[in-house]
Amino acid sequence: MKGIWNKVLRVDLSKGTCKAEKIPDKVYEYFLGGEGLGAYFMWRESPRGTLPFDPANCLTFGAGTLNGIQQSGADKWGTTAISPSIYMNAGSAATASFGLEMKAAGYDAIVVTGRSEKPVYLVVDDDKAVLKDASHLWGKDAYEVEDAIHAAEGDKFEVASIGQAAERGVRFANIQTRKKSYCGRSGMGAVMGSKLLKAIAVRGTQEVKYHDSKELDKLNKEINRRLAIMDSQKPEWLQIKRVGTAMATELFAPQGNLPISNYRLADWPEGVKAWHASNYAKELNAKPWPCKYCVIQCHNLCEVTEGPYQFKGKGPEYESFAMMGFNTMCADVKAIAYACELADKYSMDTISLGVVIAWAMECYEKGVITKKDTYGLDLKWGNNEAVVELTKKIGLREGGLAYLLGEGCQYAAQRIGKGSEDWAVAMKGQEIAAHNWRAQYISALNYCTGVASGPNHERGNSQHIWVGHIRLPEWGIGEVENDERWSWKNAPDRNAKFHDYCNIINSAGHCKFQEFRGYTLTDLTNTLNAACGLGWNLDDLRKCGERITTLQKILNIRYGWKKEDDFKYPKRFMEPVSEGPAAGKVPVGLDQAILDYYKIRGWDSEGRPTPALLERLGMEEYAENI
Ligand code: SF4
Repeated sequence: MKGIWNKVLRVDLSKGTCKAEKIPDKVYEYFLGGEGLGAYFMWRESPRGTLPFDPANCLTFGAGTLNGIQQSGADKWGTTAISPSIYMNAGSAATASFGLEMKAAGYDAIVVTGRSEKPVYLVVDDDKAVLKDASHLWGKDAYEVEDAIHAAEGDKFEVASIGQAAERGVRFANIQTRKKSYCGRSGMGAVMGSKLLKAIAVRGTQEVKYHDSKELDKLNKEINRRLAIMDSQKPEWLQIKRVGTAMATELFAPQGNLPISNYRLADWPEGVKAWHASNYAKELNAKPWPCKYCVIQCHNLCEVTEGPYQFKGKGPEYESFAMMGFNTMCADVKAIAYACELADKYSMDTISLGVVIAWAMECYEKGVITKKDTYGLDLKWGNNEAVVELTKKIGLREGGLAYLLGEGCQYAAQRIGKGSEDWAVAMKGQEIAAHNWRAQYISALNYCTGVASGPNHERGNSQHIWVGHIRLPEWGIGEVENDERWSWKNAPDRNAKFHDYCNIINSAGHCKFQEFRGYTLTDLTNTLNAACGLGWNLDDLRKCGERITTLQKILNIRYGWKKEDDFKYPKRFMEPVSEGPAAGKVPVGLDQAILDYYKIRGWDSEGRPTPALLERLGMEEYAENI
C-alpha cells in the first residue's frame, strides 16, 4: 500500500527501549491509520482486565493516513488508550502539525506501553528515537513544557505535552500540541501522566511515496478552492475563517441546542448576545490562526491586553465556551476565555470541566455544598471569577472539592449523594458535550450507543445534520425536514452511518470542519485512492468504517461494557424545558431506538456483534478472545 510507511515506533517505558516495527498492509486496509490503528494496537497489546493506569494500557499516537498530502484539513492525528473516565476504548484527536511531523519522521504511529520509573520525554528525530530525563519538567504546565523542549531540542520539533492535571490523574486530562490543539476527551492526558511520559517531540524530513501524486495534486487544488469559496459566501458572522466555531452560537440558539445552567434552561438572551461571534471577535481581538494547508481556518489567536484576564493564545472553541460560559451562565467573555486558557495549560478538557463546575454550582444552589466546601468561593450561577478560581484548583488537583471534581461529576455525585446524581450530566463516567438532546433526539442516541470514545458528540456528529447542515448523500443522508429532529424514524440508521463516518475520518486523518463547507465522502474516497492506491468505492469506505466501529465494540466488551450501560443516560435530559425552541421536548422512545440501532448495526439484542457481521467484515479472529 502507498501513502504509508508500514512502520510504527514502539516505545516500552518500563524497559526504556524504542524500536521500529513493520506492520502489514492488511492492518491499514482494515483500520486505515490514526485512531483505527490505535484500536488495533489496543486489541493486540492490552488484554482483558487492563485498567487505565496500568502499564499495559497501550497509548498510541497515530498519524492519520492522509497526514502529509497537503490537502486542507488533512492534518488530524489521534491518541487511543483505555480511558480513565469511561474504562473502555477511547480515542481523542487533534490537529496542528504533530501528525504531519510524525509521518515525516517515517512512522505511521508511536505506540507507547509500560511505565517509566522517572519522568521522561521522548525525542523522535527521523530514524533516531531516544527517551530523555524530564524530572525538571514535572510540575510544569503543558505550554511551559513545549517552550522548554523547543529551547533544548530546537524549534523545528512538534511537541505533544501534558500539564499538572494530567500528571495528577484528573480523569478528563488532555494532551496539547502547539498551544492550540488538544486530544481533549476521555482522559488521554491522564494515561500519559500515569506513564510518567511528560512529552513527545518529533521532527522529520522524509517524504512518503503516493500512488498517484499528479491526481492528488489535482484533487487538492480543486477541493481547497471549493471549500474556500463556500466559506467566503457565508455571512460574515458565519464564516469559520473569521470567527472559528464561535459562529455556532448564532446557529444553535434558535434550535434550543445550547447548554444553559447545567442544561436546565433552553434560552438565555444575555448569554447569546455575549457569546455571539461578532462580540467574541471584538472582545478577544480574534485573528485566524490556521493549521498548515487549511483554508477553513477555524482556530483563532486571541489577545486580551487589559484587565485581570490578560492572555494571548488560542481562543475558546464552541464546546469550550458553551460548557464553561453558557452552562455556568457566565457572560464575561474575557474571564471565560482566560479560564479556558488556564484549563489548556493545566491539561483539562473544557467540556468535562464546564460540566463538573456547573454540577458543583447546582449543588451549591441547592445547599448540598456550602462555602465551607468551596474554599470560600461563591459558586452562584454567573460568577465568572469563581469559575476562573475553581479551574485553577481543579487543574492543580487541590484537596477537597477540587480533587473530587477531577474524578468527574458522576463519581463526585456518588460520593456526595443527597440527590446530586440527578443533575450529574454524564454517562459511563464521561460528561456530556454542548449539544442538547432536547433539540435533536439523535444526539441522545449517539451518546448512548457510541463505541469510539463512549458518550462523545464528536464520535457521532449526527447532531450536525441539523445544527451544521452536514449531509452524507452518498450514503443516503440527504435533505431532512426540521421536524425530524424529534423523530426516531431513520435515526438509528443515520446514527450508525455517522459513527462509521467519524471513525473513517479520524483514522484517515482529516479534520471534520471541512465538511461544514462541502467536503464529501466522494472527495475522501478519491483522495484515499490517489494517495494509497486502495481502489475503493463508497461501499468499501463504509465497510472500513464498520470494521473500525466493530473493533471498538469488541474492545469495549473486553474491558467490561455491559448492555445496561447504554440505557443509563442522564436524568436531566428527560426533564423538559418550558421555554425556547425545544420546549416540552424530551427523547421519549430512546430505549427502543437503542435496540433498533443494535439491529441495524448487525449486533444481537444484547448489543454484541453477531457471527454473521464478523464474517461479512472478515473479522472473526478479532472476536476470538472477547
Ligand atoms: S478547520 Fe481548524 S482544526 Fe481543522 S485543520 Fe483547519 S484550522 Fe485546523
